[in-house]
Order: sequence, then C-alpha cells, then structure tokens
Amino acid sequence: MEILRVENLSKQYGGLRAVDGVNLSVEKNTIHGLIGPNGAGKTTFFSLISGFETPTAGKIVLDGEDITGKKPYTLCRKGLVRTYQIVKPFKGMSTVDNVMVGSFVNTDHVAAAREKAMDSLRRTKLDHKAGVFAGSLNLCEQKRLEVARALASDPKILLLDEVMAGLTPSEVAEVMEIIVDIKRAGVTIVIIEHIMQAIMSISDTISVLNFGRKIAEGGPKEISTDREVIAAYLGSE
Ligand code: ATP
Repeated sequence: MEILRVENLSKQYGGLRAVDGVNLSVEKNTIHGLIGPNGAGKTTFFSLISGFETPTAGKIVLDGEDITGKKPYTLCRKGLVRTYQIVKPFKGMSTVDNVMVGSFVNTDHVAAAREKAMDSLRRTKLDHKAGVFAGSLNLCEQKRLEVARALASDPKILLLDEVMAGLTPSEVAEVMEIIVDIKRAGVTIVIIEHIMQAIMSISDTISVLNFGRKIAEGGPKEISTDREVIAAYLGSE
C-alpha cells in the first residue's frame, strides 16, 4: 500500500532545475533509498516533500491527502518528519531535552513529552546519555539524537538525510540496525545516503536521481547492475 506519492515534482532555482519532473511512490512500511551523485537534487527533493521549499510544479500526496505547499509543522503533525545532513543539536541542553522538542508536536504535558523522549532515546540506543549536554556527544551520538528527536514526534514516515555520513564502519553498522528496527516498528523510511553498501543492504526499493531527474528505480540488485546508474556515478568522478 502506498503512503507517499510524488507527481511531476519540480523545483527551479533561476536557470537550474534542481528537481525536474520526478514521479515517485513509496510503499508503506518499507525503506526507500534515494541515491545519486553530488548535486543530483536529493536534499532539494526532501525539502520539497517536507514543506521547507515550495515546488515550482507538481503534487505531493501523503496517505491520500494532497499536502503540496503545506508547512513543515503541519506535515510533522500529519506524521511526516525529516532529519538534516548537518546535525545541529542545542548543545547547552541535555540530550533528553533536545529530544523533547520533538515530543511537543503531539503533547503539551511535560511528563508525557519526557516519557516519549526517553522511549525514542532507547530506540536509538542513547538512553544512557539522556542527562548529558548534547554538545558532549560524539558525531554518531549526535546523528542518533537527530533520529530520536524525529521519532519523538511519532512519524508515520521518516526522511533521513545522510545519517551515516562521516561515521566509522562499526558506527554505520549500528545505525543501520537502528534504522531497520524503526521500520520493524511500523515506520516508513525514505533515506538519502552515499554509503552504497549500507543503502543497498537496508533498502527495499531504491530510486536514483541525476541532474534532478529520476533515472532508475528498483530493488538493490537491479540498481547496482543498471547501466545508466553506473554511468552516472562514473561520470561524476
Ligand atoms: P549532495 O549529495 O551533494 O548533498 P544533492 O543531491 O542533495 O547533493 P541538492 O543539494 O538538492 O543535491 O542540490 C541540487 C542542485 O540545486 C545543486 O546544483 C545545488 O547547487 C542547487 N541548489 C540547491 N539549493 C539551492 C538554492 N537554495 N538556490 C540555488 N540553487 C540551489
């Protein structure tokens, strides 16, 4: 069953089409990978879906409802949440307080918000760091904090932007496990990632963008042997 559908989505910046007529469908309870060379339009695509940018053309449908042009906060309440490539925690606040910012999307009660935040920290294996300043967390922990904050708002669909970039291989493995656990708990995931081995092993479906256009889509095996995909990557080096 489809949870998210994007029709003919485009974003023009001056003379540049960052996203160019993309059609895409995300199935409920799957991990949908989004890959492509630098500048392919992946982050812009996320910004359009999550309401941080307004599309030049096209339509976005969440669970049967047209959400084109809706603001990020509204989308968050409807269960669509994103994380960012660059993590920016409130460094002077504790880890749990950072995550509570996400909880308040759904509750006004401090105790309930704290409980939700602690639950999210357990799911991202950060509960032992709940009381420390977020500024003292290492990069992998800060990336997991971003995911925990997004989880605290109870998403139906979570957009993850390069949560594994800059991590060591063992940290990548740890984050992959966390992401698969989140899917198992019933959350649909769309993930941008440059680490091929990771994206290939966790994704059910992968879409490939190049110069703003979708050039391929399919299962990891299909994608890794697709001629146009190989050419796009080799061409960008
Ligand atoms: P990366 O993998 O390097 O993060 P990406 O696939 O996420 O790249 P985008 O960041 O979406 O690509 O950028 C797509 C294109 O749009 C790039 O050429 C970029 O320079 C351009 N672009 C993105 N945002 C803007 C903006 N606000 N104004 C003008 N051009 C922009």
